Amino acid sequence: MADWTARLTAGLTRSVRASDQTLGHLEEEILYQTRRLERRLLEEAAQQKADQTPPRCPVCGHALTRCTHGHERTYQTRFGPVTIRRLRGWCRRCRAWRFPADHALGLSDTGSASPSVQEMAALTVSKMPVHEASAVIERLTGVKLPPATLDREARRQGQRAERKRTELDAQMCTAQGVAQVLPTLETPFTLIIELDAWNIRERDDWGRSAALRRRGREPERWHWVYGGTCFRLDQRVASDRGRPCILSRGTVMTRHGVAGLRDQLFAEAQRHGLAQAAKVLVVADGAAWIWNLTGDRFPQAHQRLDYYHASEHLWAVAHALHPEEERAARQWVEPLLRQLQRGRVPALLNDLRTLAKRLRKRKRQAVAAELAYLESHQNRMDYAAARRNGEPEGSGAMESTCRQYQCRFKRPGQFWSRVGDEALMCLDTFWRNDRWHLLFPHIRHQDPRRN
Ligand SMILES: [Zn+2]
Repeated sequence: MADWTARLTAGLTRSVRASDQTLGHLEEEILYQTRRLERRLLEEAAQQKADQTPPRCPVCGHALTRCTHGHERTYQTRFGPVTIRRLRGWCRRCRAWRFPADHALGLSDTGSASPSVQEMAALTVSKMPVHEASAVIERLTGVKLPPATLDREARRQGQRAERKRTELDAQMCTAQGVAQVLPTLETPFTLIIELDAWNIRERDDWGRSAALRRRGREPERWHWVYGGTCFRLDQRVASDRGRPCILSRGTVMTRHGVAGLRDQLFAEAQRHGLAQAAKVLVVADGAAWIWNLTGDRFPQAHQRLDYYHASEHLWAVAHALHPEEERAARQWVEPLLRQLQRGRVPALLNDLRTLAKRLRKRKRQAVAAELAYLESHQNRMDYAAARRNGEPEGSGAMESTCRQYQCRFKRPGQFWSRVGDEALMCLDTFWRNDRWHLLFPHIRHQDPRRN
């Protein structure tokens, strides 16, 4: 102990005297010199906890037999490698060798990461490529985790997160689910649900492309990721810069198809007060799967087509009428956009019908196609009411969330496996939804920054 303090004091004195050294040097000095002490404190405390663990099977609780002591195992911890001697015993009921201390310390049978290191792997790899994560962790904490180890650990944590998600979602179908419902208001509130999808590239049929093409099959590597988000309207406020921001919301992102999204989003909406809401509003683009899902799981919901998508179809008409004449197209479309914004949809559609009749072949077809789209969504274009009620006119919140996921999962040269991408997206979603503590109970439940 005295030895350690002397070293630290000497180091600090050197830094204080050196004219070219800053507060940063002092910080590094303390970090470096206290590390060995921290590691020893951890090792001693962990050993005590291991020694106190009763010789019972952590799976079934049965007393262990044929117990032997002193089985060493080394773990990677926040302060460096720590070695613990544990008891091993035979569980006659499970017919397996058990190390009860591992369970008490939160260490898994596979992998050698402490809970803190498990969390580091999960957090960094769900946010950045694994090579970068490895370097960042080493720089910030001094913990050396080679990319392959880090990758394995993050995936393991991601798969654990998926199991946790399934468990939590299943609870929402039972009386237990009440505990997960966020406190709701006394006054009537509106629940907003937004949906969207994007593409991810996977490594299916890797190395078999040539063989597949010979058989006339093109390898399909792009797959849909489906997402949804829900929040109470009163949680949508203006930021300092006047842009809308949402204080509290639940997000779902999955590679498990529309069915996966449907079940996960339904559970998420329940948590955010689906049963208590006076009004439920779904806002999204025109994709058919969205409105089928809405009819299936949120039949009570009011539906709204994203304003930008509706306006794009009017722009398509404008460009069909005035090809390569941007100014004329704009002049034509502006009064129609105003009609759209003012909620005069029947009149707008009538105008387009009249217009289509007057046109010849190609232009007529182009207008008819856009008209059919708008007619199929005519009950979803109440933008005037949206503004009156202070509701979103578009699904921008979901689109920006999708973009954020894409920043991680759609980098150049990236290929995913279906197992890997779902696991890491699941981790990211726990973080966003402020449920990180459910995966890593050792952290005090605080408010992780949403990004
Ligand atoms: Zn057992």
